[in-house]
Amino acid sequence: ELLPRLDAAEVRRLDRAHVMHSWSAQDLIDPPGVVAARGSRFTDHTGREYLDFSSQLVNVNLGHQHPDLVAAIAEAAGRMTTMAPSFAVETRSQAAAMIADRAPGDLDAVFFTNGGADANEHAIRMARLHTGRHKVLAAYRSYHGGTAGAMALTGEPRRWGSEPSLPGIVHHWGPYPYRSPFHSDSPEQECERALAHLREVVEVEGPQHVAAIVLETVVGTNGVLVPPDGYLAGVRTLCDEHGIVMIADEVMAGFGRVGEWFAVDRWGITPDLITFAKGVNSGYVPLGGVVVNAAIRETFGRRPYPGGLTYQGHPLACASAVASMRIFERDGVVEHARALGEDVIGPGLREIAQRHPSVGEVRGLGVMWAVELVRDRETRQPLVPFNASGDAAAPMSEVAAACKAAGLWPMIAGNRVHVVPPCTTTADEVREGLAILDEALAVADARTA
Ligand code: PLP
Repeated sequence: ELLPRLDAAEVRRLDRAHVMHSWSAQDLIDPPGVVAARGSRFTDHTGREYLDFSSQLVNVNLGHQHPDLVAAIAEAAGRMTTMAPSFAVETRSQAAAMIADRAPGDLDAVFFTNGGADANEHAIRMARLHTGRHKVLAAYRSYHGGTAGAMALTGEPRRWGSEPSLPGIVHHWGPYPYRSPFHSDSPEQECERALAHLREVVEVEGPQHVAAIVLETVVGTNGVLVPPDGYLAGVRTLCDEHGIVMIADEVMAGFGRVGEWFAVDRWGITPDLITFAKGVNSGYVPLGGVVVNAAIRETFGRRPYPGGLTYQGHPLACASAVASMRIFERDGVVEHARALGEDVIGPGLREIAQRHPSVGEVRGLGVMWAVELVRDRETRQPLVPFNASGDAAAPMSEVAAACKAAGLWPMIAGNRVHVVPPCTTTADEVREGLAILDEALAVADARTA
């Protein structure tokens, strides 16, 4: 037998003996086992079933073990499991054509990668070579991935451990109406002031040195920050004025998450480069990439692009992307995600907000929402301090524990519960999860002033 089965206890024993986990002190963790997963639910080693309101790392947009996607991967493995990137391969050609077809404007070429971080690495390399400039502007409160350049772009504490980081990256503040860095009192004012700030940063850095502005179209892990209307258009204008490459990181927001194929579509904006991963194939096989516009593609028409990966455009990964996009289309998954946001999650969370003094704000789109918890609604003091861990983070871990005890797997980030179920979650499942969250928030209410 080539794939011997292990019982759950043995799985956990071998994990503790041999697996090193990301972002963790190895001796202080006790990773639960997972014995089964299907649709929007999975079952841990104790037999407890959870409704997955995290989509794992906000990536299983089609849910767990989608039978049609699993079957397509098995079929593709039988046809051609792997082949070097230098060949033209059926599933790679198909995946690239389908992604180009769905991407806005003249973004018609795809440079495949293994995931989101390396997509961002290649996007900034392309922008630097295309412009002949070296600086890249990125936002505070952003996450762009765990490799050297993507860490340097990242504007939150996960970067600290890999500093000093890559030179040439400059951070600025993006819009966040609820906790405005610009002391604004409306989304319109926030938009205007955020754009004025960004313009000033470009000026003092010297526009002739700025290769790119990178932003998450909708900021993900750092708070589900939906840009005020007009912000992305303003960034586009600023980039056009100075010949700066606009890079939209849609690793989390793309492929259905906000109820669009690409999140920029919601605002009708065409960036120069879009990076993607996660939802493109729900991570059934690792895949990411950069969608490249005509001008940047042209830069590398007669001049070699200096970069590549053994597994880029992996035939099996590309097959899963093709099948996933076809399932999206066949089943109206993008439309379903949009409707869940508009008709179920949004209204449900707004009702929850009314009942709980610990809820400061709810915000989001599609199946990408945040519930921001506070000690005091008036002062907006966060329920836990910035970057809290251990005892200081206890109120959030208690909310998480209450959710888990009732069968809901939440995503906790800072002082927020993110509501990010698979795009295929049914309206009834969403209501079931929201009811559990509603109850669990009593724990947070008890901590309010
Ligand atoms: N960009 C964004 C917005 C992300 O949310 C993530 C992952 O969470 C990444 C990039 C990095 O992607 P990966 O972990 O696939 O390298």
